[in-house]
Amino acid sequence: MPSSCCVVFCTSGYKSNPEKVSLFQFSKNEILREKLEKSIPSANLVINSKTVICEKHFTPDQIVRTWESGSSASKVTIHLKRANLTHDVVSSIFSGPKYLSNPMKERKLPSKRVLYSSINEAIVLLEKSNCIVDGMVCDGASTNRKLWTEFVVSGIKGNVKNYFTHPSNENRKV
Ligand SMILES: [Zn+2]
Repeated sequence: MPSSCCVVFCTSGYKSNPEKVSLFQFSKNEILREKLEKSIPSANLVINSKTVICEKHFTPDQIVRTWESGSSASKVTIHLKRANLTHDVVSSIFSGPKYLSNPMKERKLPSKRVLYSSINEAIVLLEKSNCIVDGMVCDGASTNRKLWTEFVVSGIKGNVKNYFTHPSNENRKV
């Protein structure tokens, strides 16, 4: 079973990320699976029986960790070895650039943001494939210079900013 999260800006389950998190498979029920799939902001997500998503994209009440029976005095609570997602679930928590936190908004992005998003996504995918992206080059054409403003990169004398925050790691620069 592959063990890395399908969400694009998430590194849960990757060898480079030692953090232990629960990973969930998608429901076998087509309607429930599609509902969850649609809530995940990713352009190229293909769900199959091996796809998993990690606990970080769900609120605590969406994750079932215990099994309970009876009430008050005779109540029995058992902690499950493997946590499960609640039956009818959509994911709602996404880190990374703000445009990802609301998939509905993402569809209405003006076209100039597409290149910006694609570059961020490309960097993250490369990093996930064990490539290290530390820099980007630009030929200075006007369309590319326009992109600089998206990344808040500036070549103005006295106000030079030649980096932006790495989409995979906020402590790194590109
Ligand atoms: Zn994840």
